[in-house]
Amino acid sequence: LAKSVANNHFQFYVASLDSEIRERKKLEKDLSKAIQNDELFLVYQPQIDLNSKQVVGCEALLRWRHPERGLVPPDVFIPIAEANETILEIGDWVLHEACAQVNQWRNQGFNIKVAINLSANQLRQKEFAPHVLKIIESRQIPTSLIELEVTETSFMENLNQAITSLRHLSEFGIQCAVDDFGTGYSSLSYLKQLPIRKIKIDKQFVRDLMKDEDDTQIVHAIIQLGKSLRLDVIAEGVETPRQERFLKHDGCTLAQGYYYSKPVPPDELIEFMKVSHAPQT
Ligand code: C2E
Ligand code: MG
Ligand code: MG
Ligand code: MG
Repeated sequence: LAKSVANNHFQFYVASLDSEIRERKKLEKDLSKAIQNDELFLVYQPQIDLNSKQVVGCEALLRWRHPERGLVPPDVFIPIAEANETILEIGDWVLHEACAQVNQWRNQGFNIKVAINLSANQLRQKEFAPHVLKIIESRQIPTSLIELEVTETSFMENLNQAITSLRHLSEFGIQCAVDDFGTGYSSLSYLKQLPIRKIKIDKQFVRDLMKDEDDTQIVHAIIQLGKSLRLDVIAEGVETPRQERFLKHDGCTLAQGYYYSKPVPPDELIEFMKVSHAPQT
């Protein structure tokens, strides 16, 4: 009996693995047509200066509206796109779209800085820097309005190429932020080699701020590190006034999270800027 039960389990496992692979293949195929089918769009989450309560910029976050499945989260489809060349096409689409949005906001009288997430595959491209500059120049956008978010994992894959590209871009005024700071596998020595202006405290550390002693100390340490190296520090995933109070008191000057606003369509970002710089505390 035991044997046949085990066998059944095994068959079930194989069957579900098989359907998982088919699912993924289907998503992969659908994703390769998502751009031409106009299924991708960007939402924007404001970044807040904790002292002035003003919006200092926003982060562009990618969304995919699948015709049958509805919204597929980026944590699901970005890794699929990264497994092949699709991510390069999607990454380009994001750059073009974000630049077009910056222009549209400028035409409405708002100069809003946009932070764009990059993946390792993009950073690995030899001609990445001139490519990005060409896109920005074609829209005649001041380079100071574009920021690039890179993760430790993404630039460690090809550190030398990343150094070359990001230095090139920084010479043209494009700033660079380290996303998910402290969650990747890397030493801190890259902070000396890369032209980094900002670090983003990962939301996993912010979530249990003041509940978990380790997380509290990690956040504190990151803020101190930022101060010592004269880097801007932004906390992501801020959801409560208590988290904000701790961050502000500890010397963190920037924040982003549902407490202020979830990522929203472009018009809503403008509304947010007009009506409420941030909740009153
Ligand atoms: P990320 O760049 O670290 O973005 C932060 C994520 O936290 C976003 O998830 C955002 O919606 C979410 N978030 C913001 N505020 C809060 C909060 O207060 N609480 C919680 N729990 N979450 C919050 P999202 O939009 O699902 O994006 C997930 C990840 O997908 C991003 O992490 C980024 O790594 C990737 N991604 C998104 N857009 C792009 C893109 O255009 N290109 C690339 N390469 N990756 C992207
Ligand atoms: Mg990001
Ligand atoms: Mg992050
Ligand atoms: Mg993340």
